[in-house]
Amino acid sequence: MNRVQEMISAFEEIARHPQHSVKETMKATGKRAVGCFPYYTPEEIVYAAGLLPVGLWGGQEELKHSDRYLQSFCCSIMRENLELGMKGTYDLLAAIIIPAYCDTLKCMNENWKVAVPNPPLISMVYPQNRKIRAGIEYLIAEFKRVQGELEVIAGKKITEDELAESLEIYEEYRKTMLQFTALAKQYPKTLHARSRHLIIKAGYFMDKKDYTAKIRELMEALKLLAEEDFEGIKVVVTGILAEPEALLDAFVENHIAFAADDLAQESRQFRTLISKGDTVLEKLAYRISEQSCSLLYDEAKTRGQLLIDLVRESNADGVVISMMKFCDPEEFDYPIFKKELEAAGIPMLYLEIEQKMDSSEQIRTRIQSFAEMISGR
Ligand code: SF4
Repeated sequence: MNRVQEMISAFEEIARHPQHSVKETMKATGKRAVGCFPYYTPEEIVYAAGLLPVGLWGGQEELKHSDRYLQSFCCSIMRENLELGMKGTYDLLAAIIIPAYCDTLKCMNENWKVAVPNPPLISMVYPQNRKIRAGIEYLIAEFKRVQGELEVIAGKKITEDELAESLEIYEEYRKTMLQFTALAKQYPKTLHARSRHLIIKAGYFMDKKDYTAKIRELMEALKLLAEEDFEGIKVVVTGILAEPEALLDAFVENHIAFAADDLAQESRQFRTLISKGDTVLEKLAYRISEQSCSLLYDEAKTRGQLLIDLVRESNADGVVISMMKFCDPEEFDYPIFKKELEAAGIPMLYLEIEQKMDSSEQIRTRIQSFAEMISGR
């Protein structure tokens, strides 16, 4: 196995075994971990408190307990998170932060308090009118409240210098990930859909500073290799996330590479950099105001154009919509951007996914048909 493959395998192992990986990171850093539910929880504040922010993005557990609190028409990512919480998988965490964006997350906050009394829960609400001054001020106040609750968990006050240092680490992470996803386009065979996803996902279970350094190492090693010729198809993938692995395997088998993504679990996390603000919390609030995501109110409905731009910039052949079953915010966006993509003549493949799927055969057939349709054009 060459150096690049070794590094990729290490990231894949970390992403495939979140609990083990978090324990290892806790041991290596001496930090206690705080679970961050999707989406855009202020990891910078957690990190500044000397704690380790880790992502809670569901799993592939068999659902046995969560149905007591969440109906079967809730998205699988939240049902999986609740199942893991009720099973005690999150007992190793010092606290959990749950933001409330969609109806499911709002219910989750209340249900969680009863279903999973430990570790302590920190709830957060993001303003829908996030671009106006009142929205910015509200969000800063919300960040301050969360900071206060984290200080109790950490048993210390968080200083402005610690916040500034943490923000710098996260900005470095975001810039590095933007470079990584740009570089990944040149290596569509080595960084195929599955590896690309697992490498990005590993960042949720590592200390961000160490993770960024390791991604930089991987990029340096990749740059020593020749760019890869690719006979297959390139797509832009959009949605909350693109899992399980069987789904990604189907893309690899059909020679479909991800030229770019608009996934909440991937590029949406790092594509918006800090642009303005005086204090660290104000900078974080402005970042949310400039972020584009189905979870965040967007009066101008810019997602269609964003996808068209991504297709053009990455020279992609089409768009894959990875639709999380029962996800209202994503489903509301879909008819609008579908029309715009159709008008632009961009082929689309709509896949309805759940984190744990009993069979992925139907999806595999649809991916294969899409590949044949595009390559026959
Ligand atoms: S945004 Fe969608 S996938 Fe995420 S918690 Fe809400 S309903 Fe579930």
